[in-house]
Amino acid sequence: MAEALIRALIAAANQAVAAHRDELSGLDRAIGDGDHGHNMARGFGAIAEAADEIAALPFGKALQKAGMTLVMKVGGASGPLYGTLLMAMGKTGDEAPGTVADAAAALEAGIAAVKQRGKSDVGAKTMLDVLAPVAEALRAAPPDPRAAARAAADEGLAATRDMRATKGRAAFLGERSVGHLDPGARSSALLVHAVCDVLEKQ
Ligand code: ADP
Ligand code: MG
Repeated sequence: MAEALIRALIAAANQAVAAHRDELSGLDRAIGDGDHGHNMARGFGAIAEAADEIAALPFGKALQKAGMTLVMKVGGASGPLYGTLLMAMGKTGDEAPGTVADAAAALEAGIAAVKQRGKSDVGAKTMLDVLAPVAEALRAAPPDPRAAARAAADEGLAATRDMRATKGRAAFLGERSVGHLDPGARSSALLVHAVCDVLEKQ
């Protein structure tokens, strides 16, 4: 059962990233170096190539292996950070989260690891500004967890527009980073939507 879920998640994430590759790089061109779409497509493409091997693992180990693949294949900051997210989530248990509270706990563990690795926190105009609100929304045990997660991701992403970046490449722009969406927040929102779409079909 985990195998089908893992395959579906890999396919959905890879498709979402590939379909939005140019958009992600465009956002990164505005406040970074323009490679976020390339980095994400390369990383998730590598995960898709290893899908057979990854899907044969227990869910938690599969997340760890996917995370390791991102760390190894992606040169930009986002590879190690997304890799850290998935590895820490995978370490919370071998089985796929069985409840919304379990999912929130796994995401929280991933977020804590990203914060530590990136020496960052919410409000720095990064992927954390999408991931943290999503975890919070799930933690609140909403009646429709997927709708709540999607809405939190969209709102978190939108909020990055008015933020001044204090972490990552965009921080070099200081005030000039204001007025642009953060590319990593956009990719996180895409991934949250992709995961919700898969879970809806389960
Ligand atoms: P690079 O910045 O090395 O070119 P990418 O363009 O692939 O890497 O990724 C940039 C994204 O990574 C940013 O938009 C931001 O969301 C995220 N990011 C960068 N630094 C950090 C950090 N310290 N903590 C959390 N996220 C970060
Ligand atoms: Mg970049």
